[in-house]
Amino acid sequence: MKLNHGTIAVMGNAPKMETDSAVYKTLLESTKAIPWRIDWAAMSFTYIGPQIEGLLGWHQDSWKGVNDWAERMHPDDRARAVNFCVAQSQAGIDHEVDYRALTKDGAYVWIRDVVHVVRNGEGQVESLVGFMFNISERKKTEEQLLALQRELHELSFKDGPTGAANRRMFDTTYEAEWTSARRTRHPLSVILFDLDCFKQYNDTYGHIKGDECLKRIARLLGSAATRPRDLLARYGGEEFVVVLPETNESGALHVAERCRDAILTEQLAHATSTAANVVTVSIGVATIVPGADDDATKFVELVDQRLYQAKKAGRNRIVGG
Ligand code: GH3
Ligand code: MG
Ligand code: MG
Repeated sequence: MKLNHGTIAVMGNAPKMETDSAVYKTLLESTKAIPWRIDWAAMSFTYIGPQIEGLLGWHQDSWKGVNDWAERMHPDDRARAVNFCVAQSQAGIDHEVDYRALTKDGAYVWIRDVVHVVRNGEGQVESLVGFMFNISERKKTEEQLLALQRELHELSFKDGPTGAANRRMFDTTYEAEWTSARRTRHPLSVILFDLDCFKQYNDTYGHIKGDECLKRIARLLGSAATRPRDLLARYGGEEFVVVLPETNESGALHVAERCRDAILTEQLAHATSTAANVVTVSIGVATIVPGADDDATKFVELVDQRLYQAKKAGRNRIVGG
């Protein structure tokens, strides 16, 4: 058998083997991964690479019992990491665990411990050997990616200028609530709002003030629809929609009235409106317990027709019932 020069030397020559151990030691202690060994019966370290001091600040000699390992762990990670390692080791299963290790100056470093369970001839656990990897950079990137993902998710359902849910969110939620109402036979109500004479508002005060006004209205409408499942969304340019699951006709009219009042109470000047001298809304409301033959789109059209009637009747009013 001729694998390579080193292999032959290890097999046949004791002094050369010493040399190879030294080579392995040098190799182990020059890698970024930190090697260690724990005697399972004594629950103590029999070896840890000197690199540990460079990473965590604790000297090689200060790693004695497994408690030194457990105690230098973030309290929020300790129970999870220790229990998992003990259970896996007892079962003789190689494993990996991530946790934050405490540095000597009080900071934390994300570590991935990769553990191999060594068993004796009878299959009993004899020792654990492993490598600690510094995965702080990877964790940071992971956390940034997660934060970006959350932000993207939020942005994809949010109308940027007003902070309300966007049309896409309305479409999704409305469809889900429609299905739920049909199944549970609960009433579902929808309210549509359209700002009165908003073209004149822009013409009088400018687009920037117009945008600010929309933002304010969105906030007011958002606080008027108070149940956790209620949804306020921007339906179009100066139009908003509120979806009220499990809400009957009188409840929906009540919310609509509260919305109209909240906007009137703000007394936002609108000198060129034909409806009032302040910003007002026209409102259409309807309630349905959807049956098998009902159509979700047609129902919104009905609400829109009522909104149109409110406009025709002089604006700043609610048509429902
Ligand atoms: P009505 O009372 O009949 O609803 O009259 P209106 O002027 O509100 O209705 P119209 O549909 O004629 O015009 C809507 C206006 O809303 C047009 C546009 O200038 C304004 N608008 C729509 N979206 C925005 C927006 O994002 N920002 C601003 N500032 N104005 C918007
Ligand atoms: Mg409009
Ligand atoms: Mg309008």
